[in-house]
Formats: sequence, structure tokens, C-alpha cells
Amino acid sequence: MKFGLAQSRKFGTLKGAYSLVTEREYYDSQVTLTDYEADLILSYFGADNIHVGNKTSDPVKASKTFRLFPEGKPVNLNLVFPKPHKSELRLYLSKKAGFKPAAGDVWFIFINDGGLWLGSLSELAWRLESSELKQDDFDDIYQASVNQGIEIKTTTLKERDIYKRDKRVALQRLNESGYICEFDKTHQLFISRFSKKPYIEIHHLIPMSLQGQFKTSLDTVENVFCLCPYCHRAVHHAEDKLAGKIVDQLSSKRGVLDSYSIDKKDLLSYYALEDIDK
Ligand SMILES: [Zn+2]
Ligand SMILES: [Zn+2]
Repeated sequence: MKFGLAQSRKFGTLKGAYSLVTEREYYDSQVTLTDYEADLILSYFGADNIHVGNKTSDPVKASKTFRLFPEGKPVNLNLVFPKPHKSELRLYLSKKAGFKPAAGDVWFIFINDGGLWLGSLSELAWRLESSELKQDDFDDIYQASVNQGIEIKTTTLKERDIYKRDKRVALQRLNESGYICEFDKTHQLFISRFSKKPYIEIHHLIPMSLQGQFKTSLDTVENVFCLCPYCHRAVHHAEDKLAGKIVDQLSSKRGVLDSYSIDKKDLLSYYALEDIDK
């Protein structure tokens, strides 16, 4: 899969791809590079510089240098077109050379700083790394500002933790949606003793942490959703099935995907909930 915004924020480039290492690939110590993975590698080395045929017939040309994530240590792996018509591009994995991810791990390549990087992480670690859904310190204050009408004090927070959110946008959403959980309007809400209205939390479907990657504001009446406290925690912390269901349902509500020109796969990837396949 091609890198999305979440990966580009982490690795500093959109020129990257990732996929799961299959049992077969692990067992054979080789991966056949497809689609974008292949394009990326060919654009970096140039098709003419890649050996055609068995790796042993020209060990020097077959060997290519990659930088191993995160330190950047060089690793030399064999990369060849096994057949003359160059329809297949094959990368050999090697424990001895320094790169042999386990079956079920996510391996990734990307171009950055003039180098071609590769690395691997367990699927869980990969999902945690690329998730944009860490609730920041500011979130509690934001929810309180909406439900209690307090002013937001940001002086104690570090600049990087602050995603500017406008309380008025949240209040407009609340008025339009009518103080219900937008995932399931039958969800029970308690009454806030401050506002005397049902207590509701506000969630940005496209996470505010991705604001830098979008030209238009993410803090809009369209992108904010009212959720009961249970669903709000769930969308941030629940396992894939429930969190995915909430994201899926909210995304179909007001055309957020169209407005921000993303597809459902992109959105799921911000939550690290995408299917990682070829
Ligand atoms: Zn949230
Ligand atoms: Zn709910």
C-alpha cells in the first residue's frame, strides 16, 4: 500500500509503501515487488541499473544498498528482475545482511533525504506508530470548554500539542445535531451540571493533528461529530471492529470524504484501521 498522510507525517515523505510479510515470503526469503513498491524502487535505482537474471550471475550489479530504518545503517540486499521481460521485480531478504522481517510483520520502503530506506515493525507497532488518534492533553480542556463554557487556557501546553479548535464550531454542531450521540442516537447521556444540557463530547473525524497536510480547516461543522463519552473513548481506543464501525458510520453522514477529497481507506489509515495488504 502507498503511504498515506499518517505515514507521510511520520516518515516525512509520501514516496513510500508498506505491506505485510507473508509466510511464503518469509519462508522463501524474497518478496516480489508490485505496483507502487516496484515503481518507487525503479524510480530510485533506474530500471537499467537492475540486474536481469539470477542474482549469482552478476553479484555486484544485483547488490543494492538501502538504509535501514531508523538509524540509517546501510544494508546490501539483492534486487533483480528474475526474467528477461522484466515483468517481476524481486528483493531478497537476508538475516545475514541485516534485513529479514518476520512473517506477519509490516515492512516498508520510502525515499527520503536522497536515500532509499527500508524497515519493518510488528503489525501492532506499525498501527500504533501511524495512528493519529492519540488524544492530546488539550482534549480534556476542549471538551470542558464546550460543556462547561470555560475559556481555554493554553499557556501551559507546548506549542506542538496544540491543535487550534474553535468552541463555536463545536457548539454549532451541537445545536444542529441536537445533543445526541451521532453514532447511535439512543445512547444515554447524563446532564451536565454546568450547562444543564446533555453532556456530549466533540470528535474531529479527520484528526486535527493532520491539519498541516490539508489546505482547508479541519475544524469545521462538517468534520466535528457529537459522540457520547463511551463512543468517543471507543473511537480512540477500542479494538478494530468497534472503532472501525464508528468511523465508517460517521464518514457516511455528511460527505466529509468528498469535501476533503479523501477516500474511506485514507480515513481508516488515520486511525491505523486499514487493511494492510498488497
Ligand atoms: Zn476525539
Ligand atoms: Zn455513543
